[in-house]
Amino acid sequence: MAEEHPTGHGAGDPEQPSIARVYDAMLGGTDNFPADRAVAAKIQSVLPISKENAWRQRELLARGVRHLANEGIDQFLDLGSGLPTVQNTHQIVQALNPDARVVYVDNDPAVFARGRVLLADDPRSAVVTADLRDVDVVLDHPEVCALVDFDRPVGLLMVGVLHHFADADDPGGVVKRYLDAVPSGSRLFLTHFRANPPVSDDLEKVFLTMLGSGRFRTQTEIEAYFDGLVLDEPGVVAMPLWKPDGPVAVPLDTSGEMIAAGSGRKP
Ligand code: SAM
Repeated sequence: MAEEHPTGHGAGDPEQPSIARVYDAMLGGTDNFPADRAVAAKIQSVLPISKENAWRQRELLARGVRHLANEGIDQFLDLGSGLPTVQNTHQIVQALNPDARVVYVDNDPAVFARGRVLLADDPRSAVVTADLRDVDVVLDHPEVCALVDFDRPVGLLMVGVLHHFADADDPGGVVKRYLDAVPSGSRLFLTHFRANPPVSDDLEKVFLTMLGSGRFRTQTEIEAYFDGLVLDEPGVVAMPLWKPDGPVAVPLDTSGEMIAAGSGRKP
């Protein structure tokens, strides 16, 4: 396996690709540099539908946020939020509940810069720069404490981020620490690269070699993030099958199988 770097290793350095900027390039955004575009192009060459997949994940984020909001969640921690493009969490949830609160957390300063502009007129949303692995720093952050009431259910969003944690980061342990901090009735929604060899092996090599992170974990490993929670229907499934808005063509193409999604409730 290629070497894994600490997550977010290019954040803040335009010469090195960063996860957030590569994702922005995949989505056709403008907040990226040649180093980021080179990674995006390589990913696209291994799996030609990757850019479409990035958009599918944004749509999935919207479905996840709406599901949690419909279950009564009105405060969200969007952990590993990425560069806001269109359809951001606060816009999705505030369309259903104008009083809902959202705190975006990301370790890439580019996310902070863009988010500050986008959220300038919204007193119910904030963006915080922090490493998610520093769970106490995130939970004790003044902006988080100002907007999130930890005595009431919280929606934890971890969309497209946990696969950027190395095994040594103990991603399951990090998830558990966030879950321990929120009360009964809170919900977790996550997506994760899922192993689907041989293509996922090739993609993992590209991610680890060029970006330093990007692990394709097994269905069992992904389900384990929900230990202690009551899984929502339809369980942990391929991205297109998670609460689709319309009919889905089956069998899924390879790329559809490559990202899994699930949500669960803390009993
Ligand atoms: N959640 C967004 C979405 O689904 O559109 C963005 C996903 S993007 C692929 C992953 C994001 O996680 C990036 O913005 C990256 O900077 C962030 N990230 C990765 N590791 C992180 C860490 N340890 N702490 C905070 N953010 C992290």
